[in-house]
Amino acid sequence: MSLQDKVAIVTGAASGIGKDIAREFLANGAKVAIADLNVEAANATAREFDPSGARTMGVAMDVTDEDQVNAGIEAIAARFGSIDVLVSNAGIQIVAPIDEFKYADWKKLLAIHLDGAFLTTQACLKHMYAQGRGGSILYMGSVHSKEASVLKAPYVTAKHGLIGLAKVVAKEGAKHGVRSNVICPGFVRTPLVDKQIPEQAQALGLSEEEVIKKVMLKDTVDGEFTTVNDVARTAVFLAGFPTNALTGQSIVVSHGWYMQ
Ligand code: NAD
Repeated sequence: MSLQDKVAIVTGAASGIGKDIAREFLANGAKVAIADLNVEAANATAREFDPSGARTMGVAMDVTDEDQVNAGIEAIAARFGSIDVLVSNAGIQIVAPIDEFKYADWKKLLAIHLDGAFLTTQACLKHMYAQGRGGSILYMGSVHSKEASVLKAPYVTAKHGLIGLAKVVAKEGAKHGVRSNVICPGFVRTPLVDKQIPEQAQALGLSEEEVIKKVMLKDTVDGEFTTVNDVARTAVFLAGFPTNALTGQSIVVSHGWYMQ
């Protein structure tokens, strides 16, 4: 499945990793819906990438709101005629030790990462099954889909959970030609990570420089951050991969931080 003229929706695409995936999908011929909680930023991104508006659209979507998800996916299908690729990418990070973690924060994080993945998957699968020409669903996991770190209990729990969801989608979707995979990046310098550096420095009693070198990049092979484009190119490869040889898989993109 090449991405030429395929219709893709990327959630959380107004910033960071999702934004670069939207950019790469467009460069590879797809039409792209940029769905985000921040609708102004989603619309601005859509205009930035295609001022003519022919191949992009911004969509207001809180991925935890079932009605907004269903309405958003319907609007994309109505505008572009199909739904071929979903990248469930929207996410947040909240760090604290488990014994101090606020229950409301635990629920908020799980809702965005897991409920959001479920709701967008369900809404897109209905179109993919009805269209009868398959599709590709990608979840934005993390090295934390495979590994744990202190202070990140709900994030690690949610990111592990996405692998389970992807495996079920791979099994149920197979007879409809729908494939499902998880991308597991290492640390990428986005607003999500920039916010964590001072928070972790305070929680761990380290300087910000030490958090980067001794916590975030300690186990990489080259001391380098993973880039948004490292992740976006992996998304293009997986979304366009033409057979069921790659389904139910999780691919780590982390400069060797985690080797499976
Ligand atoms: P980011 O903060 O740059 O972008 C996240 C986007 O998600 C924002 O535009 C935000 O408005 C949107 N968003 C937040 N809550 C939402 C909701 N309820 N509904 C719709 N949109 C919502 O973050 P990022 O670093 O690009 O992260 C994107 C994904 O990549 C997340 O799932 C994150 O867990 C994952 N990830 C990030 C890293 C990293 O190091 N940055 C590493 C591994 C995985």
